[in-house]
Amino acid sequence: MSASTLGGDVSLRVAIVGSGPAGIYTAEALRKQATVPLRVDVLERLPTPYGLVRYGVAPDHTSIKSIAGYLRGVLELPDVRFLGGVEFGKDIGVTDLLDCYDAVVYCTGAMVDRRMGIPGEDLPGSVAATDFVNWYCGHPDMPGDRFVLDSPEVAVVGVGNVAVDVVRVLAKTADELRATDVPQEVLDRLAASEVKAIHMIGRRGPEHAKFTLKELRELGELANADVRVRPEESAADVSTASRQIRGNVEVLQSWAARGLTGRPRRLDVRFWMRPVEILGEGRVEALKLERTRLLDGRVVGTGEFETLPVGMVLRSVGYQSVPLPGVPFSEATMTVPNEAGRVRDREYVAGWLKRGPSGVIGTNKSDAAETVRTLLADLAGRDPVHRTDPDELLASRGISPITYEHWLDIEAAEATLARSLDRGERVKLLGLAAMLTACGRQ
Ligand code: NAP
Repeated sequence: MSASTLGGDVSLRVAIVGSGPAGIYTAEALRKQATVPLRVDVLERLPTPYGLVRYGVAPDHTSIKSIAGYLRGVLELPDVRFLGGVEFGKDIGVTDLLDCYDAVVYCTGAMVDRRMGIPGEDLPGSVAATDFVNWYCGHPDMPGDRFVLDSPEVAVVGVGNVAVDVVRVLAKTADELRATDVPQEVLDRLAASEVKAIHMIGRRGPEHAKFTLKELRELGELANADVRVRPEESAADVSTASRQIRGNVEVLQSWAARGLTGRPRRLDVRFWMRPVEILGEGRVEALKLERTRLLDGRVVGTGEFETLPVGMVLRSVGYQSVPLPGVPFSEATMTVPNEAGRVRDREYVAGWLKRGPSGVIGTNKSDAAETVRTLLADLAGRDPVHRTDPDELLASRGISPITYEHWLDIEAAEATLARSLDRGERVKLLGLAAMLTACGRQ
């Protein structure tokens, strides 16, 4: 089909793969920067948009979750379409997209956890924190049966913001989470949790922790849990450190100075301990730790060991991206190699897939803007090359995308569910079938 029969006044068609913040900020940047009429299709594997904002941001972080309201405004722009239920690499590939569009921008983020590389890591009960986050955020791919909440003690390895989110959700009461959008099935399991002690493990000192001060402080405000920090593990010389690090260390030292108050749960924040083995017969029964120190900037063990009797180990040691079929990928950096967002002719990348899993959600806005500057400079003055109608291509493969209107039906069903349960503004539907039923697609 010729470009003219695709809608004569459109001179630039761009496909964005992934509808998380990076994808939607890319759509917005295209709208802002392009000086020619354009159409942007945002392709998404799931029936729901917003990626990490929906399935990664902690349910009790409502101000961060409100970014969804901003992203919604972009999806509602007249030249932007949401095409859900379309899986890149299965339903549509690189060659197809380059036939249908003038340019493609990959924005699939970082979807899997990093590994620790220690024995016992594959025992049942050793799980990725990212999977746990996905579960309590109602991700349709994540069944809840792998999470052990009937053990009195659990460990979370890593001291980044994801670890802080996970320990906070584990430590809160169901009442504290009731007004959030966690699926009812998740809330019921968290309400029945028998977890009493949560150990958060940092392999270096408090001055090296990756969490941010605001997030750390929230741990001291939990209604249901005492925070314990050992004075000897929180000692650090921060006289020349940044304000952020000094703040973290001050908060940790203030917790080290105060005693336990008898709250039902306890959060033990540990430093200078690294996991060396997960122990258990057929499932996680304990986590063996070794005390550490730094030698020439490297973490080394001191030969002093400690074993925690935990029934679950949540690995919160960072995310990483996964390669996309037919798209270049560097195993060294676990990102798509690019120059200011350019991957190959007419192929671009933005977000965590471009630069790795770092920064806050807003960081993706400037990142997307850079990619779009590169894209528009590359394509300036070129004739449109889109040859095939994507709708016809998908239809010929029996695929009928989930539209933005379908998504609004899912949202409405979530609001109705919240009212019927007398809980907050929205309660997420759990499972793909429930979502498809809500939008009349099943
Ligand atoms: P992160 O900030 O990179 O933290 C990873 C943690 O895992 C570090 O403490 C790291 O220690 C530790 N670690 C790595 N390998 C390890 C190993 N083999 N054994 C023991 N510990 C290990 O990653 P993240 O927490 O997944 O967060 C990802 C991004 O999302 C960050 O930019 C974060 O700020 C952002 N985020 C933000 C929020 C928020 O703003 N509220 C919430 C969640 C996530 P070393 O430093 O020693 O390597």
